[in-house]
Parts: sequence; structure tokens; C-alpha cells
Amino acid sequence: MAYRVTFIPGDGTGPEIAEATKRVLDATGVDFDWDVQHAGVDIMKEAGTPLPDATIQSILTNKIGIKGPITTPVGTGFRSVNVALRKICNLYACLRPCKTYEGVRTKYSDIDLVFVRENTEDLYAGIEYEHGKPETARLLEFLKETNPDAHFGDETGISIKPISVEGSKRIVQYAFDYARENGRKKVTAVHKANIMKHTDGLFLAVATEVAKANPDIEFEERIVDNMCMQLVQKPELYDVMVLPNLYGDIISDLCAGLVGGLGVAPGANIGTEASVFEPVHGSAPKYAGMNKANPTAMILSGVLMLRHLGEQDAAVRVETALRDVIAEGKATTYDLGGPAGTSQFADAIIARLG
Ligand code: NAD
Repeated sequence: MAYRVTFIPGDGTGPEIAEATKRVLDATGVDFDWDVQHAGVDIMKEAGTPLPDATIQSILTNKIGIKGPITTPVGTGFRSVNVALRKICNLYACLRPCKTYEGVRTKYSDIDLVFVRENTEDLYAGIEYEHGKPETARLLEFLKETNPDAHFGDETGISIKPISVEGSKRIVQYAFDYARENGRKKVTAVHKANIMKHTDGLFLAVATEVAKANPDIEFEERIVDNMCMQLVQKPELYDVMVLPNLYGDIISDLCAGLVGGLGVAPGANIGTEASVFEPVHGSAPKYAGMNKANPTAMILSGVLMLRHLGEQDAAVRVETALRDVIAEGKATTYDLGGPAGTSQFADAIIARLG
């Protein structure tokens, strides 16, 4: 039976790289029934929203989606479609592999890391108090009373960092499951528990407990600042990393830089209601319609989707074909130093798939 998958082209360069990705995935022979839905600035005029209900319903029904990047319009009052999707579909785990491919310009070789970022809690929960507001003043009074030694300026804004036992358990267990299912050997929990005892400390305590229940996978922990230095100096020492939301966001971009930049960084958002696969990069609107953008990150997001569906053979075939085309360098896009456009890059991968 065909896999019915919600397919969202996105906007900017999204439709071009999404089409290239669809053609590559179809060429594997895996039977897809694409449910094409729209989101982003291109649909806003017609639908009155960048995230139509039909698109949400399609993802919730099919339980799986792949999407191109979407522009977040500045100053229109619309929230980010990506953040809205995370909330609606409870996409709690953000998976970001970072791997070096021969032919991609970077000083590093043999990097093969996977970041598992908690996607719903931490400073991204959106609980913020603006300085100068009466409710902020009331909260500040309480905080001054209960923390007499802390320094609070008169003009203070406050962001709240909730980290829960349930949320931490769920994400760390996901990291161990991912490691086991993908032949990985080690999970490293990243934190700043020495300073934030009731949030990062809780995350670390839960991670240590979850590790005890998963003795077949090695476990270690690192303080986030040390982790940054270690990843730049000795990335080969690490394997799967599990992080609270903010550190996950920052460190996974740092590592995308180590392996050659955003054009080659795939992502997956795994949830309780559905899973959505998408490149880490944005819509790069200045290249829209020019057949110029690199489709690698979205094709690799498609590889993650194939693995999620249990189509391991097809996943390996696509990744191998992509790796070979990049290594050869004759049919890659400008950012990889090649002469090809988005669609020619896809043609070369399809030709290699055989
Ligand atoms: P961006 O990732 O779109 O582009 C930054 C630069 O990276 C581009 O100018 C280009 O030089 C390069 N680049 C990115 N993708 C590339 C590709 N596939 N091939 C070749 N070069 C590529 O970041 P931005 O300019 O900050 O954001 C543009 C829009 O995308 C914003 O509205 C932002 O909110 C949105 N965005 C969406 C997502 C998403 O949909 N998941 C993620 C990030 C940003």
C-alpha cells in the first residue's frame, strides 16, 4: 500500500527544492501517495492565513509530512508556521544529524553526529514578561522578596524556563531509542546543571535515571560550554547528543557549520500526533524561482523520513547516490562549488539511483 504523506512545498526556494526531493523519493520505487497541501506567504492571500486548517488536518490524518521552508513575514502579526505546527502536532523531538560528505567544503572530515533537541519546553515555551508592565512589576516584587541576594535592575524583563520530569524523560528515552535503532553507541546529555539546578539539574537527573534503564547504550554528560569547545576540537568523540531546547538550537547550528553549512543540514520533528520532516535552512527568498538552491538538506530530510517509515534500503540508496554526486562535484549547486541548478542536481541523483 502506498504511503500517504502530506507534502508542503513551502515558499521562496521551497517549491523548487521540494519538487527535486519528491522526484528523488519517487525514483526509489517506494510507493508514495502525495497529499499536496500549502502553507506560507504564497497561500496567505487566498486562505487568509499562512497555515490553512486543511494543511493541519492533512498532517494530523496522514501522521507524516515533509515540508519545504516557509518565510515568517516580519511585522504582519502572523506567528511562525513552524512554531504553530510544533504546538499543534506536539512535535516534541527535533532530530538534526550533522555529517560530513566528501566534496562539501569544510575543514573537518568524518563527522557523524546526531542532535536530539527537546522541542516544546525551556526558554522557547514563550512565557515572557515585558519590562515596565504591571504584571512584571508584581512578579519582580515576589522574586525580590524570595531572592534577597539576587540582583534585579529596575527595568527588568523576565523569560521563564520550564523543564519538566515528563518532558525530559520523553526526550532522553527518544535519544536512547534512536541510538539503539540506528546502531549508535553513545548518548551524551548536555546541560548547565552546575548553575541551573532546578531546570538543567532536573534534566540531568532524569537523563541519568533513563540511562540506567538503557544499559546497552553508553551514557555520559557534558556541561554545555565545554561541549561547544569539544565539538570544535574533537567532534569524533561524540555520537548522539540530547539537549534541552535552547542548547539544542544553538549547538546543532554550530555543528551544521562544522559540516559545511545550512545547505546540507536536514531535520525531523517527531511528535505524538505526527512527524514532519524538513531542512534546517529557511526559504532563501533571494534565490526563489532561479533553480539555484541546493536541495541536499531537504533530500536528506527525505532520507530521515524513509528511515522513519522503515524503508531502510531506499534510505541507504538515496544517501549513497547523493554522496556520490556531491563527491564527483560535476552536478552540484553553486554553494558546493558546482555548475548545476536545483533540478539538474536532482536529475544526477536519480540517474545514480539506477
Ligand atoms: P535562510 O536559511 O533562508 O538563508 C540564509 C542564507 O543561506 C541564504 O541567503 C543562502 O545564502 C543560504 N542558503 C539557505 N538555504 C540554502 C540552500 N538550500 N541552497 C543554497 N544556499 C542556501 O535564512 P534567512 O534568510 O534567515 O531566512 C529566510 C526566511 O526563512 C525567513 O522568513 C525565516 O523566518 C524563514 N525560515 C524558515 C525556516 C523553516 O521553514 N523551517 C527555517 C529558518 C528560517
